[in-house]
Amino acid sequence: MSRLKLWTKEEIQYLKDNVNLLTKTEMAKVLNRTYKSIEKKMWEERIKKSGNDWKKWTDKEREFIIKNAEFMTQKELAAHLKRTKSAVQYQIRLMRKKGVHIPKRKPKIKVPKCPNCGNEKLGNVTTFDDLTKTTPDAYYCKECFNEILNSGRVLPPLENKMNGKEKTFQLLDQGIWELSELVRETGLKKRTLSNYRKEYKEKKGAI
Ligand SMILES: [Zn+2]
Repeated sequence: MSRLKLWTKEEIQYLKDNVNLLTKTEMAKVLNRTYKSIEKKMWEERIKKSGNDWKKWTDKEREFIIKNAEFMTQKELAAHLKRTKSAVQYQIRLMRKKGVHIPKRKPKIKVPKCPNCGNEKLGNVTTFDDLTKTTPDAYYCKECFNEILNSGRVLPPLENKMNGKEKTFQLLDQGIWELSELVRETGLKKRTLSNYRKEYKEKKGAI
């Protein structure tokens, strides 16, 4: 009856780090656990979404919305500001009422084409978005090395990131799989490395 799978410190930390960013279903998938077990552990550890909607909105937060509403979904805005989506919606409505111009979100790009250089040879990557602290799926331009999110927002080419990825792949080629070891070797974040490792696996699996 009992399917005991002990929780590691890292897994509990993962819940804490992502409670405001991911759904329980998403976290369950990543941790390869059931929704129920995620729910139970969060209850045991008193891990809750930081419900700081009561907190007064700052000008900085409002500016963030004005600047990014064009590129980010309300869910992404909420995740970044650690507020709920409905609180963000309410704030947008309030600002519009006061005559503040908040641009509508640009429609998703349908034809994968680099908005930067027009190149149509795009690859798929999972990237790390520093702005929202999420790991969205993105296109990757093989010409100008930019990454383009589904929203059309272009992420700047990060030399470090490219090098880091190449380096990670090299290490994986050498059979180094332990995250902690990869962290030591590359200095990259665990989450980034975990995504590279997944990408690597998928690539190798395809051969
Ligand atoms: Zn390009």
